[in-house]
Amino acid sequence: MVKEDCIFCKIAAGEIPSRTIYEDESFRTILDISPASKGHAIILPKNHAANIYELPEEDASKIFVVAKKIACAMKQTLQCEGLNILQNNGELAGQTVFHLHLHVLPRYQDDKVSFSWEHGKPSEEELDAIAEILFAFLDF
Ligand code: 5GP
Ligand code: ZN
Repeated sequence: MVKEDCIFCKIAAGEIPSRTIYEDESFRTILDISPASKGHAIILPKNHAANIYELPEEDASKIFVVAKKIACAMKQTLQCEGLNILQNNGELAGQTVFHLHLHVLPRYQDDKVSFSWEHGKPSEEELDAIAEILFAFLDF
């Protein structure tokens, strides 16, 4: 449920003060202390899960509903012109706090946020092979 020495568990439980913008029985949404843009918020499940692999399906299914609520509120109140939802898993992917959280990032003209990657050029065969592996594993 709650992990000792996890700062986001303590914030989610209200043991450490935060700028809470939304709370329900499963999640607390707070302003990021070091925002990438005006209004940058993070949604924290109240039950500890380090990452998406550990996240219970119930929280997984509910967290995007919260994200939508926050996103709509930001559009209305902050007049952001765009918005990104971001969720990092693992150090390699940029995760720095190992309690799952969803970033809700309002975007503005001339903000300093950037996500970029080089687009690959895999062959049809390479794409087919990857799709086959995942499709077989997921067993649709
Ligand atoms: P990650 O890099 O793990 O995806 O994101 C961690 C985020 O949590 C960062 O954007 C960082 O600024 C934010 N953060 C880290 N510690 C605190 C804290 O104590 N309070 C708040 N409000 N945000 C935090
Ligand atoms: Zn935690």
